[in-house]
Formats: sequence, C-alpha cells, structure tokens
Amino acid sequence: MELKFIGTSSGKTSLKRYHSSFLINSGSYNLLVDAGDGISRALLNQKILFNFIDGILISHLHPDHYTGLPALIVQMKMNERKNPLYIFCDESNTEFIKEFIYQSYLFEDKLGFKLNVQSFQQDKNFEVSDGLSFTARQNSHLERNISSDKSRRLSFSCSSFLIKVNGKNIFFTGDIAEQKDLYIFRDMIIDLMVSEITHITTEELIDAFRNIKPQRLYITHLSEEDEKKVSKLSYQLPTAERRKVVAAFDGLSVKI
Ligand SMILES: [Zn+2]
Repeated sequence: MELKFIGTSSGKTSLKRYHSSFLINSGSYNLLVDAGDGISRALLNQKILFNFIDGILISHLHPDHYTGLPALIVQMKMNERKNPLYIFCDESNTEFIKEFIYQSYLFEDKLGFKLNVQSFQQDKNFEVSDGLSFTARQNSHLERNISSDKSRRLSFSCSSFLIKVNGKNIFFTGDIAEQKDLYIFRDMIIDLMVSEITHITTEELIDAFRNIKPQRLYITHLSEEDEKKVSKLSYQLPTAERRKVVAAFDGLSVKI
C-alpha cells in the first residue's frame, strides 16, 4: 500500500513541480486523486503507466485539478486500454464531466474501454473497491466566487476527503479557503494528513496538525512562495515534530 505524489505544485504552472495530484495504491486498486493540466506528463515523469490507473477522484473544477482528464483518457486509448476507467466526482459535477469528455470527441465506442463517471454524495461513504473507500465533505474553497456566477449555473462544490485504505484514514484537505476547513473531519481518527498550503498560513496548519495529531503531515500544493514559508517553518518546529511534517515533492512515495 502506497501513496505517491505525482504533482505537488499550486495552481501556478511550474518547471519544478506538476500540479497537485497523488496516487493511492491499495494493493489491488490504483486511485488517482485529481488530474489537472499536465497530468499525463506528470505520470510519465513518475514512470506510472497510464493504464495502471483504475479510477480518478476529482476534488473540484479548478483547472489545476481536472482539466488534464481528456488528455489522459486519450493516452489510455493510445496505450490500448481494455479495463474500464472510473471517474468519481461530486454529484453536482457529473453531467459537466461527462459533457467535457464528450465535447473532447472521446466516444466510448471508439475508446475500446468503458468509461464510468460515478457521482459521490457529500458525507456518504463511497466504496471504490475492497479495502478502499472515501467520504467527501464540502469545504469553503469556492464560496467566495458564488457572487460572480451571475447566471447561477455553477455548483461551487469543492471537497475535502477522508480516504480509507485497508483500515488507515488519510485526510486530504483538497484546496481550501480558511482555517476551519482544516477541521472538517475532526470527528474522525486521522492517520495521515495531506494538506495544501496555498490558501492558509503555516501557523494555521501547524495548529491543526497539533490538534488533529496525525502520524505524519504531508504539505503539498506548493508555489515558490509557499516553499519558502514551509522551509522557514521546519526550522521553527521542535525536532520531534519536524520528523512528522514533510514538504511533499513530485515522486515522494509514502508507505501506508
Ligand atoms: Zn489548486
């Protein structure tokens, strides 16, 4: 069982890091979490075969988290995929994701494999496969944009996840907006925490780490400015904590 960081950059495109994404290998299933711009190259960079991926979980519809999806499906076809591909997204985004794929001329009868876009509901456990499930809870990341949607067409769903892998709980904050989002699963036992750092301060994150008490905290979604604030942080932490707080990098592999 492994968690592998495929990309660890913020929404700012970088030559040093690909956009934020990671792969969970449960032993029998490979779940990719987020698939933003450049995900196919990011996977190549990590020597992950495209058709190694069984399912893709989408946290929200910002381009650094989902726009790599059609290009990745094309790569899967070109690599003669036969196994079905599952895409999991919030129920409010399902029709859009299906349309996005369709409008990219990716027709199921031409792909050679089945595409299953499946909806998850907030706060309901979703079984992915034996020993792998997740629960989504809506955070406030997109709330500040609601007033800009004059035609009121958008869902503004952005999820944080508790991903359960063979009895271990991984809390992935996803992209958030403020400190309270860090406590969205505070009623649950959390073994590993994966948090973004772009939209919160390091002090807020360390407070949450001390309150939630995961075995390890992995910090991702790092811009160059975020990198600076995280490296400054690690000098300030007591040694015992410093071992537990890790700035993620593309290719970092963590045994679960
Ligand atoms: Zn982002």
